[in-house]
Amino acid sequence: MNQHELTYLKEKIEQLKADGVYRELPVNYGPCDNVINLNGKEVVNLSSNNYLGLANHPRVKDAAIEAVKTYGAGAGAVRTIVGNYDLIGKLEDLLAEFKHEEAVMCFQSGLNCNIGVIQAIVDKGDLIISDALNHASIIDGVRLSKADKAIFRHSDMAHLEEILKDKRDQYNNVLIITDGVFSMDGDLARLPDIVALAEQYHCMTYVDDAHGSGVLGESGRGTVDHFGLHGRVDFIIGTLSKAIGVVGGYVAGKQETKTWLSHRARPLLFSTALPPAATAAAMESVKMLMESTEFTDKLWDNAKYFKSKLGKLGFDTGHSETPITPVIIGNEAKTMQFSKALLEAGVYVSGIVFPTVPKGTGRLRCMISASHTRENLDFAVDAFARVGKSLGII
Ligand SMILES: *Cc1c(COP(=O)(O)O)cnc(C)c1O
Repeated sequence: MNQHELTYLKEKIEQLKADGVYRELPVNYGPCDNVINLNGKEVVNLSSNNYLGLANHPRVKDAAIEAVKTYGAGAGAVRTIVGNYDLIGKLEDLLAEFKHEEAVMCFQSGLNCNIGVIQAIVDKGDLIISDALNHASIIDGVRLSKADKAIFRHSDMAHLEEILKDKRDQYNNVLIITDGVFSMDGDLARLPDIVALAEQYHCMTYVDDAHGSGVLGESGRGTVDHFGLHGRVDFIIGTLSKAIGVVGGYVAGKQETKTWLSHRARPLLFSTALPPAATAAAMESVKMLMESTEFTDKLWDNAKYFKSKLGKLGFDTGHSETPITPVIIGNEAKTMQFSKALLEAGVYVSGIVFPTVPKGTGRLRCMISASHTRENLDFAVDAFARVGKSLGII
């Protein structure tokens, strides 16, 4: 066999096709906004993480353009060499103020942040206890660390405590990791209970608030703010890629965390810093959230409106507590058929099926944004009603 023909990859791709899970990447021909040009067709976009509509906001775009004029297109190096231009520090100070935390360290993305922070803050002889539904980037971060790991059933506090009782004494540091908002169902972590257990068993806590930052709490300060737990969570991860509308990730917490990460976090040591356009744009978004609750108010208004309309039609929208609105269809093939029919009707909602979610719980995951107009939402609800009836779902 000639290895250079990558026969083994060709075979794997054929298997994807045989399994019915092969797909092409959809192409968006313009900005990510309430309506997008997907594969050449104008559709209402119910699939982005652009919760507040900031990805294409004029103020955010202008900030990016100005930063390029002043600082150029790229950082030029990793932060430990000459890539640490002053705007990054300014963004970190602003985020610390916004989050009511002592210090913030920024990374190139939320994924980078998780894989950099987790391996830097635990070591051999430590234990990580992680929720079963935590995000893939947490799983990767845990894999890269030298600590042992244990998984508790999703949001099952009795199981978490069982693990703590059983294992706490055998380890030096124990770190409990959870998503703040779980992205497939839109449910919140039981953070007050997790924090209480962590305090009782002398553990550290780590909350990945990628879907909570810019969404929950006062003007989007996040899940920790929502639950009034300031000062009681050790590591708070946020992303600048979702509600903030740009790209990047950060950890908020104590100054010692930041100092240690500046010496040990591998994405910071070995990968070029965020570009100036992204840094400045993210700063502008955060400033806008600090000036007013207008964006988060609109997001929640839209989400409540959409959820109540779908509920009245008879759809099962699960137990979401956030603007993430799953419409549970169940059967995998029917879920994908529903998504395809919606696209034909001018609404883009991605179908999510096994293995991303358990078998038989296929769903359309509607991502509501402050950028949606009432007309957009009504248009989408109408399409749901028509397709739902034609497929016998409602
Ligand atoms: C999206 C997401 C990330 C990754 O963030 P990026 O900035 O897109 O890399 C990390 N954690 C969670 C929980 C997420 O939902």
